[in-house]
Amino acid sequence: MKIAFIGLGNMGGGMAANQAKAGHEVSAFDLSQAALDRAKGAGCTPVGSVVEAVRDADVVITVLPAGPQVLKVYSESIIGAAPTGALLIDCSTIDVDTARKVAGMATEAGYVFADAPMSGGTTGADAGTLAFMVGCPEDQFARVEAALEPMSRAAMRAGDHGAGQAAKICNNMILGATMIATCEAVALAEKLGLDPVKFYDIASKSSGQSWSVTTYYPWPGPVPTSPANRNYDGGFATAMMLKDLKLAQDAAAKAGASTPLGAQAEALFQMFDGLGYGGRDFSAILQMLRGQLDG
Ligand code: NAD
Repeated sequence: MKIAFIGLGNMGGGMAANQAKAGHEVSAFDLSQAALDRAKGAGCTPVGSVVEAVRDADVVITVLPAGPQVLKVYSESIIGAAPTGALLIDCSTIDVDTARKVAGMATEAGYVFADAPMSGGTTGADAGTLAFMVGCPEDQFARVEAALEPMSRAAMRAGDHGAGQAAKICNNMILGATMIATCEAVALAEKLGLDPVKFYDIASKSSGQSWSVTTYYPWPGPVPTSPANRNYDGGFATAMMLKDLKLAQDAAAKAGASTPLGAQAEALFQMFDGLGYGGRDFSAILQMLRGQLDG
């Protein structure tokens, strides 16, 4: 299969490499020369523009920073340039309205489109074990799932266009809020003389249990893969969590949904980001709550 891959950053780089590893012909484009060089090293063919990448593609996959880039790239360089009949999949995390707008433009021009944001981070992108949340017509899902297969451990259809993005921001709103709740509880446990490691043993088997506790505990020790064990380097950057929480708040305001905890989570991650910790894993917000930012 001929795959055009647009956006070869932290996520897209590993994802494109996995498509090449699966034996597909991958035409790759990014604005960054370093990203193109890495893609070449991973078995992709770097090209000079989006139009050139998509010209003969069976499948076009985009992994771009945000809504404005997605709208621009689809409207100016993919729709009309890719063969009709090509499957277009946007894996970026963007706002629901832009996802639906791009889907409408693509569908009108005769393409099959899917929004398919992902979870699993850069580790999942490199390993080919991402989980995709897909918005597309039901009768097209099998085709989308097959195209995502070399990059995924699971693809779940959330509903029609935009539903994948809705699932992603709702999921990450839970994640942002439960991480802050977990960090507050750990900080309080410490102040009360309760060992945070002992608290993990209890909370992970009690009703305070969540993914933030069992898989990403923000205190070093109990969960070996947690970024807390490496001074919160790598993992899921605070700035990325903030972006997703802002998308959730914008969507909630437009939809008239009440999300007070989501709003508070956004405000706290905004504060942490403003202190210069946007690049640190989001669970490092524990250190802000403990008043131990440089510790
Ligand atoms: P990134 O900034 O590392 O990569 C984005 C790439 O897009 C860059 O290499 C940039 O040069 C390229 N780009 C920008 N505009 C372009 C254009 N017009 N044409 C071609 N290339 C262009 O970001 P990332 O971490 O790879 O994230 C990509 C998307 O995936 C984002 O929407 C993000 O929210 C989402 N996401 C990221 C993670 C994560 O852990 N990093 C996890 C899940 C989802």
